Amino acid sequence: MNLMNNVESDEIAKLKDVADEIKKSGKIAIFAHQNPDGDAYASSVGLGMALRKNGYEVSFYLGSSKQDFSPIIGMHEAFEENTSPIPEGTTALCVDCASRDYAANNEMFDKCERIIVVDHHATNTFYGDVNYVDSSAAACAEISYFLIKAMGYEITEDIAYALYLGLVTDTGSFQYSNTTIRTHYVAGVLSTIRRDFHKLHDELKYISMDTFLALSEAMNNTDFLFGGKLGIMSLTKEDENYWNSHVDTDGFVDHVRDIYGIRLAVFTKEIEENVHKVSMRAMDEVMNVSDFAARQGGGGHPKAAGFTFNGDIEGLHMMLAEYYEEEWTE
Ligand code: AMP
Ligand code: MN
Ligand code: MN
Repeated sequence: MNLMNNVESDEIAKLKDVADEIKKSGKIAIFAHQNPDGDAYASSVGLGMALRKNGYEVSFYLGSSKQDFSPIIGMHEAFEENTSPIPEGTTALCVDCASRDYAANNEMFDKCERIIVVDHHATNTFYGDVNYVDSSAAACAEISYFLIKAMGYEITEDIAYALYLGLVTDTGSFQYSNTTIRTHYVAGVLSTIRRDFHKLHDELKYISMDTFLALSEAMNNTDFLFGGKLGIMSLTKEDENYWNSHVDTDGFVDHVRDIYGIRLAVFTKEIEENVHKVSMRAMDEVMNVSDFAARQGGGGHPKAAGFTFNGDIEGLHMMLAEYYEEEWTE
């Protein structure tokens, strides 16, 4: 294990300053990006549990999401809408979120004394008073592990379970190219604290029947362009099953990504009339989809990015086809 000898101490040293900054706060409000995903919740809940256990007053302002991981990782209140005012002298700890605009409940930032950002998006705009951004981390949960250690706190069984969720969801179960030796190291250490991660993998596989029905609609609404290299799956207000409250579309884009020959997989969903949330996944390193997403006011990672589009679905498809034609075809 020579390879791993210094990983823990190197990461802890890098995080020392941000750890000290967090420890200066008595009250901490945790924020993450809109429509929080597994990593956003994992990092929030993992850090929140560690801070609470060590005497901090912690509240969560994570915004609403169709994904409720609370049966898996606990801390139910983190998954509920929080409308309580921010108490005086509160520090905002914002995780897994690249920009101020994309943070859920970001209007609450103004009520916080200062903002500490901990993130792994290369597109991060450093909107905090203190910023720790490491785009080589596969998940914000990977940074959160070392951050808890840098604060000198114990990784309890519950924290280990929460952090593992973030590693799994952001790496597609350790299959994406963002997975590094360091990711496996953290997963390995967490596995010494919890022995039942197989249960978490099982729980993540389940989908509701409504999600299944919406997925079949989305599959029917998939267009293949450029000889099957660009795949665009869409759900619009016309799709009746999509509107059911038990539908969770996170992961739909992966079905397009899984098709042999696809280079760029896209999933779009109409969240309000003529407002579409777009998820993009690149299969190779040739183009950085976060550059394109950033030009549309969004962001993300080189191979997984997103943005919100205002306009009709035909216009959106045309824009995506133009992007592919201009930047992806040699
Ligand atoms: P998603 O397609 O929603 O799973 O998101 C893929 C990646 O892009 C994640 O890292 C998101 O945080 C990021 N992302 C998605 N939508 C936006 C947006 N509107 N603004 C900034 N980042 C985004
Ligand atoms: Mn995320
Ligand atoms: Mn993440």
